[in-house]
Amino acid sequence: MQARLQDRVAVITGAGSGIGLATARRFASEGAKVVAVDIDADAGRAAAEEVGGEFVAADVADEEAVKALFDGVVERHGRLDVAFNNAGISPPDDDSILETGVEAWERVLKVNTTSVYYCCKYAIPHMLAQGKGSIINTASFVALMGAATSQIAYTASKGAVLSMTRELGVQFARQGIRVNALCPGPIATPLLLELFAKDAERAARRLVHVPMGRFGTPEEIAGAVAFLASDDASFITASTFLVDGGITGAYVTPL
Ligand code: NAD
Repeated sequence: MQARLQDRVAVITGAGSGIGLATARRFASEGAKVVAVDIDADAGRAAAEEVGGEFVAADVADEEAVKALFDGVVERHGRLDVAFNNAGISPPDDDSILETGVEAWERVLKVNTTSVYYCCKYAIPHMLAQGKGSIINTASFVALMGAATSQIAYTASKGAVLSMTRELGVQFARQGIRVNALCPGPIATPLLLELFAKDAERAARRLVHVPMGRFGTPEEIAGAVAFLASDDASFITASTFLVDGGITGAYVTPL
């Protein structure tokens, strides 16, 4: 594996599971020093141990914790090269707007969007001081497409991540900081696989829209994140970086 991230200090939020975990493995395989952040201490610690990185327990929706996270990383490692702001939730009580209460709405916005605001707010000053850095914020293809199977707060939260990221990419473009929004399509995480294994019709209703006819894997997303984090993406900023099996480009899909 090409060591595109050799000795780069990379913070990954939500590193204990799914896309974050696959990215921790990929970053480490490319030479990065991984700081694995998660609210789930067991999962986060296991991820950090596996990749020879450091674990920091933090709730990304807590401003003080996020500030302490980034300041602490720079204090201990001397720099901050990559921030993959990826932690997010998609709880069952976030559904149709007709059913979803304001408590669920606010919780999802806080964990998915306000957290990204905090992570960028407290990562960027360190990157400005270095004159270099790459930020990747996890949005989603649902920031661009509507679904009749609504998760209204989740969709709104990802739309906000996408537009916030674009603006930051533009604002800091001449100061060496790249800020990109990663938009995964539907990804076969353990939770999703379990759900769809039990309900083939539910899976089929979604898969029919994906030109490639399958869900993506966390490893396929991790490959894209490593690219965005690396100097191979040196002319890419403020982008809507789709890794979606073609779903956002499709009208009629192959049989
Ligand atoms: P996941 O549930 O497998 O992992 C998320 C991790 O984030 C977990 O380890 C969890 O403990 C952690 N986390 C949750 N809340 C946190 C908090 N407040 N503070 C710190 N850590 C917290 O999820 P995933 O499928 O890997 O998704 C990762 C990101 O990708 C999310 O932002 C999600 O919205 C987005 N995404 C996922 C898909 C998909 O199909 N899986 C598609 C598009 C976008």
